[in-house]
Amino acid sequence: ENCPDDRWAWVEIDRGALRRNVRTFKSRLEPGVQLMAVVKADAYGHGAAACAPVMRSAGADQFAVATVAEGRALRESGIAEPILVLSQPPVTSIPDLIEYDLMPSVFDVSFGLAYGEAAAQAGKVGRYHVAIDTGMTRTGVDWRDVIDVRDQLEFHRGLQCAGTFTHFATADVPGDWDWELQRHRFDEAVAGLRDAGLDPGLVHCDNTPATVLHAETHYDMVRVGVGLYGLQPCDATVPHLSLDPVMSVRARVTRAVYPPVGAGVSYGMKWRVTKGNLQVATVPVGYADGYSRALSGKVDVLCRGQRLPQVGNICMDQFMFAVEVNTARQYKPVRPVQEGDVVTLVGRDGDESITADDLAALLGTINYEVVCDFGLRLEKVYR
Ligand code: PLP
Repeated sequence: ENCPDDRWAWVEIDRGALRRNVRTFKSRLEPGVQLMAVVKADAYGHGAAACAPVMRSAGADQFAVATVAEGRALRESGIAEPILVLSQPPVTSIPDLIEYDLMPSVFDVSFGLAYGEAAAQAGKVGRYHVAIDTGMTRTGVDWRDVIDVRDQLEFHRGLQCAGTFTHFATADVPGDWDWELQRHRFDEAVAGLRDAGLDPGLVHCDNTPATVLHAETHYDMVRVGVGLYGLQPCDATVPHLSLDPVMSVRARVTRAVYPPVGAGVSYGMKWRVTKGNLQVATVPVGYADGYSRALSGKVDVLCRGQRLPQVGNICMDQFMFAVEVNTARQYKPVRPVQEGDVVTLVGRDGDESITADDLAALLGTINYEVVCDFGLRLEKVYR
């Protein structure tokens, strides 16, 4: 393992895997269809400032973020490509939108006009994308009102519509009727704009699962997030795409002891040593690092190529695992661990691997949340 010597816990980001995943998606697109890399939430916990240049060199044409602060940070990191903010931000963020050339999603006429005014006063043209609610009931203009909203923004000298988009709620379920309905409404709204002589700009709607399952809705651009990080979108019904996980989570054993039988482990002493020759090893990662306390006693870790059980409650900054060292003749003897040994929480160690999906399944959530959480505090190491 090519691990840093000077770190006790870190998130490892495999740039080669990121590059391959971007190319995999790009190769599915017809020439001329743009790839918008979704790097919100600090690139799903992977580090947007470091990932975006890799994505760009592998073929990403544009970027999407969730907030103005994320967009600003991405600009400051040196990204010159178009950046879309996937929500309509507060009016107070308009100066930053203009200064950092970030495109807001717009669904509200008063926001659009305020943005246009500020852009015109700065001697600029404020580009924006119209977000359409086609059925997810989250954000956007109702699909029936798009022409009306565009009409009211159309002749403002400080505004230019650079795109029109919607977001699917059920793209990961093949043949889903709700997806068909959303798609139909979106097509109708875009056709209505064109019939009314209103240029929709770039038309886009596909997230990762829709990009994979529905080439017919790639239109001018696709917005891919989770797939670029090598993860399958939430529902396992999407046909398997060959992607490489980008994130691994590793740490080092800080202490390894042989407690006496009866010793309790961690807060509440919910787990006790019941055998001799059992090692309890400590790892400096906890729930504040994204290793949820809800995993306590349910999850395994990898160390020295072995799969070993986490034991006792996971603390804020540390947790323990057990090594039932077996010296008897047995099929696969368990080897003791030592201080400084590398422990893998997510990733591969020899023949064993633990995925973000494994943790998500234990937690009753999706891989998206698992990787976002690991990105919050642990230092990132890029390879
Ligand atoms: N577009 C929008 C509006 C989103 O909110 C998201 C993420 O949730 C994406 C695209 C990317 O989705 P995914 O990560 O499933 O590709």
